[in-house]
Amino acid sequence: MRRFALIALVATLAFAAVAAAAEKSKEPFFPRSGNAGYKVDEYEARLGYQPRTGFLNAQVWIGARSTQRLSRFSLDLNGLHVTEVEVDGEAAHFNRGRGKLKVTPQTPIKDREEFAVFVRYQGKPQKVTDPDGGEEGWIRTDDGALAVGEPVGTAAWLPCNNVPNDKASFEITISVPRGLEAVSNGRLALVERERDRRIFHWVENEPMSPYLALVDIGRGQLVKTRPDGLPTWTLVDPRQARASRKVLAQLPDIIRFESGIYGDYPFDWAGSVVDVAPRLGYALETQTRPIYAFVPDLTTVVHETAHQWFGDSVGLQRWPNFWLNEGFATWTEWYYAERHGGRSARQIFRRLYRVPATQTDFWDPPSGHPGTPKNLFATSTYVRGGMTLEALRAEIGTQKLLELLRRWAAGHAYASADIEQFIQLAEEVSGRDLGRFFHRWLYQRGKPSGYGSL
Ligand SMILES: [Zn+2]
Repeated sequence: MRRFALIALVATLAFAAVAAAAEKSKEPFFPRSGNAGYKVDEYEARLGYQPRTGFLNAQVWIGARSTQRLSRFSLDLNGLHVTEVEVDGEAAHFNRGRGKLKVTPQTPIKDREEFAVFVRYQGKPQKVTDPDGGEEGWIRTDDGALAVGEPVGTAAWLPCNNVPNDKASFEITISVPRGLEAVSNGRLALVERERDRRIFHWVENEPMSPYLALVDIGRGQLVKTRPDGLPTWTLVDPRQARASRKVLAQLPDIIRFESGIYGDYPFDWAGSVVDVAPRLGYALETQTRPIYAFVPDLTTVVHETAHQWFGDSVGLQRWPNFWLNEGFATWTEWYYAERHGGRSARQIFRRLYRVPATQTDFWDPPSGHPGTPKNLFATSTYVRGGMTLEALRAEIGTQKLLELLRRWAAGHAYASADIEQFIQLAEEVSGRDLGRFFHRWLYQRGKPSGYGSL
């Protein structure tokens, strides 16, 4: 994700020189999210949306596997009215708790058994306000809606196991009034017409965290291209079309550059969604196809594309490890600039390091230990986070750093990982004890001293 304030800071720095659940969730920041006793394999959601009223008529089939015997279980779901729940084809008893749909099947589910849940639900999905005041969830726009789920907004419109480390495949089918388009993750398998509506069938087969699920409904034209053989779907709000054409055309080059340093692009599909949602004010790395709530600049597209490796393919075990997403995407911005005639990542590091501590908020909280969910999107996660990789580069050399990032992307592809595993791999790749280094950069408060001459 990128917020406006950061965009200004980092874009200036980078381009000034060029023209341009399992067990009781255990999620420390969002303990109410996530559910015990099962893992999800697939979601198949059908959404019928009426933009004029904001009303959603929906159903979802969930294929899951139990990790213990279950006489009951729950899914995360905010609000909405549930009318029917079945487990393995049998009507199930259900009730609601805060942010939960609690299900009691007629027959308990045995340990390590596959089971299927069907939920029919409706109502007006709502936005979610995060601990830091940011907005996510279901956001209505003047011609439709969009859904962004970082960190917990997907439960605003989909019953799910809403933790980053329970990844599943997703089929999202969206029915909208004719004249509107609907886009989600992955491949567009089919578009059907039904009276005065059109139905878009989207399929993402690679494992995906619920928070990376995308829905965007609005005017525009879905355009398919195939740069470098990579099928790409793009939907741009007509009001943003002119202004975003040039930057979106850079996507193939950006993917080529990042594949060159991090290894093959992890997904079978790519794309971009540009909508008009002025109050949202950020971009999100929704899997295969980032969404921009404004016309993005080059740095933002570089950032969200880097997340396809770091965040989407290599996912998070838990939210306090967010540095693994944002530090890496931020450093990629700097390295991209360095290799494209902008300032070098080292120059950006030096400039940032010289900013007096009294004039910045990017040192604290330390990026490996944000402390509270309010700090999840703290500037330090991004800026100090990116500086951490640049300082590591100085410590172990460019070749070793790039080897480390490649091996990290390959070793945890389509899975979830944590910071400790990254530190271990860094020590393995460099053959060095980096405990002190990472302690200073990730966990110790304040500006790490001794880097003035870097
Ligand atoms: Zn980001």
